[in-house]
Amino acid sequence: MDAKAPITQDVLTIPRKLPDGPQNLIGLSRDQMRDALISAGTKEKQAKMRVGQIWQWIYHWGVRDFGEMTNLSKDYRAMLAETFVIELPEVVTRQVSDDGTRKYLVRIAGGHEVEVVYIPETDRGTLCISSQVGCTLTCSFCHTGTQKLVRNLTAAEIVGQVMVARDDLGEWPVPGAPKDETRLLSNIVLMGMGEPLYNFENVREAMKIAMDPEGISLSRRRITLSTSGVVPEIARTAQEIGCQLAISFHATTDDVRDRLVPINKRWPLADLLDALREYPKVSNSERITFEYVMLDGVNDSDADAHRLIKLIEGIPAKINLIPFNEWPGAPYKRSSNNRIRKFADIIYQAGYASPIRKPRGEDIMAACGQLKSATERQRKSKAQIAQEAGL
Ligand code: SAH
Ligand code: SF4
Repeated sequence: MDAKAPITQDVLTIPRKLPDGPQNLIGLSRDQMRDALISAGTKEKQAKMRVGQIWQWIYHWGVRDFGEMTNLSKDYRAMLAETFVIELPEVVTRQVSDDGTRKYLVRIAGGHEVEVVYIPETDRGTLCISSQVGCTLTCSFCHTGTQKLVRNLTAAEIVGQVMVARDDLGEWPVPGAPKDETRLLSNIVLMGMGEPLYNFENVREAMKIAMDPEGISLSRRRITLSTSGVVPEIARTAQEIGCQLAISFHATTDDVRDRLVPINKRWPLADLLDALREYPKVSNSERITFEYVMLDGVNDSDADAHRLIKLIEGIPAKINLIPFNEWPGAPYKRSSNNRIRKFADIIYQAGYASPIRKPRGEDIMAACGQLKSATERQRKSKAQIAQEAGL
């Protein structure tokens, strides 16, 4: 591939309504659900109330069977069951790591598979979800970027990952039980497979459902979207989703970032930093997380640490240092622990939090950048990966 070839978004989103099948209620906004109910014969005057009822059953109680929606009449439930489905991705496998991390392989329409990772910690439980099958971008250190096949996930498939994880964790409320404020699944990070800002509308709709107070009800402060730097969509993320932002920064010069995160050729550091400076103001979020993968001899020098501090000056930030997670055929090595600590120290001295991310679920290939469906057959060759990395 020509390294200068434009990055395109030639991905396909399957229609939410399959040609002959009943319509899936999952993934619809409240307005879309209202329209769907009216088309199915619900009186306009009643439609809003019906949406409220169905919404609570699905997203608050986790009900999947119209027959259980007991505050609706029998006839109405029968009509719903004939016209609609409540359909979630299918969990194909579930692996549990020695450290408690769970990795799910879920199957979506078309037989595609994506991975979802649940990471329990003492004060929270984070679900790492995917936004695309594969990724159109080709970051040279990322396993997902070596996967050729790409398709955008629908809003249903995105919020569906949260719902199947809650199923597995047994976390839907039980009627009558006291309200439990300590949630097993308390945070969402869009850090799985795919570039969420190349699937903006579906990600936005899915997160709106996850944030809706009558349902899953996760605060926007507990949702973090990670992007490789799709600059024009960053302001939109602030305005239309308002969640926390993480940026896959990874380099301190355009030259190195062009090689690691090729989207940098389209939107270089200066443009990216301008967009990031605006984000906290527009989204009213506290600070931006800078993700920085530690690659031995590539981006991990003291000079890099000093340059990083200079670049982000004035941006409320936390720098998350990610020890590189190796995958078969990867063209990089992880920086040594000493090097990572030295790098972290320099940043810390400059007044920024600089946690070193502890790899989780490595034994089940669940760590950052390792995600890729095992069943995915179309792979790039080692030579192609190396060439794209400019090696
Ligand atoms: N596409 C989005 C979100 C998914 S990647 C993005 O790039 O931000 C989630 C994070 O894992 C990103 O910061 C990514 O750069 C990082 N990552 C990818 N491959 C990795 C690897 N092999 N080791 C460590 N981190 C990796
Ligand atoms: Fe895509 Fe993110 Fe991987 Fe880059 S790091 S290839 S943007 S998933």
